Amino acid sequence: MTDFALKRQQILSKIEAACKKNARKFEDVQLLAVSKTHPAEVLRAMHAAGQCRFGENYLQEALSKQEQLQDLDLEWHFIGHVQRNKTKPLAAHFDWVHGVDRLIIAERLSTQRPENLKPLNICIQVNIDGQDSKDGCVPAEVPELVQQISQLANIRLRGLMVIPKPDNTVAFADAKTLFDEVKAQHTNPDDWNTLSMGMSGDLEDAIAAGSTMVRVGTALFGARDYKLDK
Ligand SMILES: *Cc1c(COP(=O)(O)O)cnc(C)c1O
Repeated sequence: MTDFALKRQQILSKIEAACKKNARKFEDVQLLAVSKTHPAEVLRAMHAAGQCRFGENYLQEALSKQEQLQDLDLEWHFIGHVQRNKTKPLAAHFDWVHGVDRLIIAERLSTQRPENLKPLNICIQVNIDGQDSKDGCVPAEVPELVQQISQLANIRLRGLMVIPKPDNTVAFADAKTLFDEVKAQHTNPDDWNTLSMGMSGDLEDAIAAGSTMVRVGTALFGARDYKLDK
């Protein structure tokens, strides 16, 4: 086994153990490999180890890797903050966008999604524990956003994304409660199946609370160069 395959296997085992402990199905929790700051060759090696879903935070960096990895069948997730003036390339080059926190962003992504591509999957980012400096809408805004965004033509609204403060694992339960509460606002409630939460340090707690997608960087790829990790 390569180092990449070994690391990936270790994370999958962790996910599986957390699922078992919480009477959840392993196949209901997906592993998103967060590859920001790591070069294309590293993603290629992780793909050879079986990984298809990759999460990136910085647009230019992601586009450059996509160019270099065109020959692979990868699923690209944008997990960074979505700026209004960047929606066009996001709509054209990604399969998922996790950081949508305003209607205008979703509307632009829908309008700008190229017709030859499947609808863009998005999650609404919620500032679940009231952090000052964090992106995300406030929880009270979520029901109306779900109702509005789920009607957009070229969008598939899949669920919520949260990044609570470190060690604030209670926030995961709050996110799950909100996730369950707003399902009925959705035009296509069956699409509402993704709770994107949990990172290297807290994926077990996130799975215990109901996460369906953990976003793991450091535990898979090792430490990032701090200078690149803006
Ligand atoms: C970087 C990042 C991660 C991965 O964090 P690790 O602690 O390295 O696993 C997950 N989610 C988001 C939004 C990130 O920016």
